[in-house]
Amino acid sequence: MNFRSDNVGTASPEILRAVEAANRDPAASYGDDDYSAAVNDAFSALFEAPVTVFPVATGTAANALSLACCARPWGAIYCHQEAHVHTSEGGATEFYSGGAKLVALPGENYKLPAATLRDALAAAERGIRNRSQPDAVTITQASEYGTVYRREEIAAIGALAREAGIRFHMDGARFANALATLGCSPAEMTWRAGVDILSFGVTKNGGMNADAIVVFDADLVEPLSYRLRRAGQTWSKMRFASAQLLAYVQDDLYLRLARHSNAIAARIGQELAALPGVELAAPVDGNMLFLRLPDPAIQAIAAAGARFGRRRGGVIRLVTRFDMDEAEAATLVDIVRRALP
Ligand SMILES: *Cc1c(COP(=O)(O)O)cnc(C)c1O
Repeated sequence: MNFRSDNVGTASPEILRAVEAANRDPAASYGDDDYSAAVNDAFSALFEAPVTVFPVATGTAANALSLACCARPWGAIYCHQEAHVHTSEGGATEFYSGGAKLVALPGENYKLPAATLRDALAAAERGIRNRSQPDAVTITQASEYGTVYRREEIAAIGALAREAGIRFHMDGARFANALATLGCSPAEMTWRAGVDILSFGVTKNGGMNADAIVVFDADLVEPLSYRLRRAGQTWSKMRFASAQLLAYVQDDLYLRLARHSNAIAARIGQELAALPGVELAAPVDGNMLFLRLPDPAIQAIAAAGARFGRRRGGVIRLVTRFDMDEAEAATLVDIVRRALP
């Protein structure tokens, strides 16, 4: 049983087959191939708008290089204090932006409330040389706590960003899980709510080694293409990344995979929360669970060899995946049930 993260998972067979199918003939390099052209068409259809897609190797590259295009070296980028860009990327955004400042803000369930952003923007002293200048806001959908921003919450942030003249980035490492939960269109969860640029996660939901940046604001395309090259993110055999992206969205594969992991997470959440002494620390909106468990239950799961994350205060983190089966979830619930008095 491995609930450590979704990146311990396999790559989906559909994606591996697509890579193999792209391995027949020579193809143009650096994204000038047919697969890469098809990605822009497929994603423009998916997002119902002309978008430009840049495949990248990691979510960190997607986040940092996207934000580097949105913020000047003296700029401020507003984020939640638990945002992956702030806590888990080794300062990549600060590095690639040439020193922009991440302004970490609080918010319940790891979501940045629009009101908090409004106050932060109001407090920013524009035109004062000693202060970082507001340039961008970034939110994580689904959040690092597994929670999902509702459309109106995203739109409220988008409206503030537009009003303030700053750019709006979304870290969609778990984009598919969030979209499956909201049941809206990709457009409604992004540019229609004001998002300018998106880190589109693939790896955690069945990709092999490819995530992507989806650019809605055409002004960002040119600077981003130069920044990606300088950062070593312009693969010469780009077709193998592009083939993965095509397979990922074809016939809604990405949503099918995400729905499967979300359903397993929901099942574990419901069954465990019904047990005495077990509490959900956060709502289960996607494929991550944060649970407060009595110590003997945590010890029993560990003793059974299950992998999971530990947080302070007896809280554990469980992440479900597209390639996990129901039996694994049932076993986990059973172990906890038997460990409780
Ligand atoms: C996993 C993850 C990323 C990307 O991480 P990489 O290790 O660079 O692929 C970005 N944001 C969030 C919220 C994540 O969970």
